[in-house]
Formats: sequence, structure tokens, C-alpha cells
Amino acid sequence: IVEALGVHKHFGHLHVLKGVDLSVAERELVFVIGPSGSGKSTLLRCLNRLEEPSSGSVTVDGIDMLDPRTDINHARQRIGMVFQSFNLYPHMTALGNVTLALRKVVGKSRAEADALGMAALQRVGLADRAGHTPGQLSGGQQQRVAIARAIALEPRVMLFDEPTSALDPELVGSVLEVMRDLRQSGMTMIVVSHEMGFARNAADRVVFMDDGLIVEQGPPAAIFESPTQERTRAFIGQIQ
Ligand code: ATP
Ligand code: MG
Repeated sequence: IVEALGVHKHFGHLHVLKGVDLSVAERELVFVIGPSGSGKSTLLRCLNRLEEPSSGSVTVDGIDMLDPRTDINHARQRIGMVFQSFNLYPHMTALGNVTLALRKVVGKSRAEADALGMAALQRVGLADRAGHTPGQLSGGQQQRVAIARAIALEPRVMLFDEPTSALDPELVGSVLEVMRDLRQSGMTMIVVSHEMGFARNAADRVVFMDDGLIVEQGPPAAIFESPTQERTRAFIGQIQ
């Protein structure tokens, strides 16, 4: 459902992605690890064209993301993204945040948007907090609102860039739990995270990136216990 081929990205003279090939099947959960600066966030951002790749091709759900004729705003509705910082509007309620794009981008009526928004909040366990503003919610709850906002648009793929990195340790579990539920429901997911425990028990595949390239990939057990590449071994050794 996601097909990236030969993706390069330059920022000025900095060559950040050096020909990345990544294909993700429907319902697959791909977990991306690698050192800081290896290009993980840039790769995710190239998949939904928050960044424009310098060369290569990206297809998501049959849509050529780099074709100038592609309506990128429409295409992005199929690709939910959750960041480390939740990026919620502080003056709007949880429900207001979740329904904003449904109303302004998809063009749903307020009643329809509210119904879909409440269903999404229900899925992340926050139906009872619909009327709270972000300031009245914990970090974990705010991140779950951000996830609800993404799933309310019924994406075909969800991208997560360090969704729990900004959270106090005791709040991480609730967010991972929601991600596990999403995976169970069959969502295709690409997750950049340091939560190796989650990778071990929820990922179908772990991809190790270093210096702008995918160095090694495979089932979590293989990557964590018997990596074949020296760079993977060194990285796994450091984080465990
Ligand atoms: P981290 O684990 O720290 O989040 P990462 O693997 O996500 O790292 P990226 O954020 O993709 O790494 O960054 C890869 C490289 O590209 C880094 O050297 C970074 O400084 C550079 N970079 C990223 N975005 C930009 C930008 N908009 N302009 C210039 N350089 C950038
Ligand atoms: Mg990053």
C-alpha cells in the first residue's frame, strides 16, 4: 500500500536520504529505528510529501504522491500522521480539534463531524473528555486526541514519528495501547520510535536506517537478536 523507490533527499549540500526503497503491505506494522540524524523523520515526511523528495518515487494507496497533477491535500487525507509534539489547537476542545479537518477539509456538516469525532475519541478512550481543551488534558491524553484526529479521517495508512518521546514515562503505556488497538483493527502503520518493547511485540518488521539508507530489515526477533550488519549490531548494542 506504500511503495517508496529510490528516494533521495538533499537539504542544500546535505544528502539526507540516499536511495531508500520501502514497501509496506496492507495491515503491516513497520517499525523504523536508527541513530539520530539517520533520516527517519525525513523519510516519513517524504511519504506524505511534507517534504519533497529530490528524486525517486512514492506511491500511497495507488496514488503517485510526486505527480504534480495529484491533489496533495486530498491524498494526505489517506495518510494520517502523528508527531512527537501533538500540535493541537489550545483554544479548541478535544472534539473541536478532532472535527476541524472533517468540517473544513472534508466538508462534513457539524452534526456529521461531531458524530465521527465522538466515535474517534471513543476509540482512543477519551469520549468523556470531548469538551476539554488540551491544557486540561495530560500529555498522553493530548497525544490520544491527536491520534483520534488522524483516524477520524479514515486514513489508509498511519505514520507515527516518535509519538511517545515527549511523554512522561507513566503516560507512554496508554498511547502504545491505543496504537496496539489500531494495529489490531488492521491499520497499516509505519512507526518511528524508541519503544523497543512495543517493536518486539507489535511490529511485523523492523527497519534499521543509518546515514540515509536502510541498512537492514527483518522480523523484530531477527533484528534484535541476530542482526547481520555490523552497524545494526552496534546500534542494538547501544540501546539495550
Ligand atoms: P532523530 O532520531 O534525531 O529524530 P532522524 O533520523 O529523524 O533523527 P531527520 O530528522 O530525518 O533524522 O534528519 C536527517 C538529517 O537531515 C539531519 O542531519 C538533519 O539535521 C537534516 N535535516 C532535517 N530536516 C532538515 C531541514 N528542513 N533543513 C535542513 N536539514 C534538515
Ligand atoms: Mg526524527
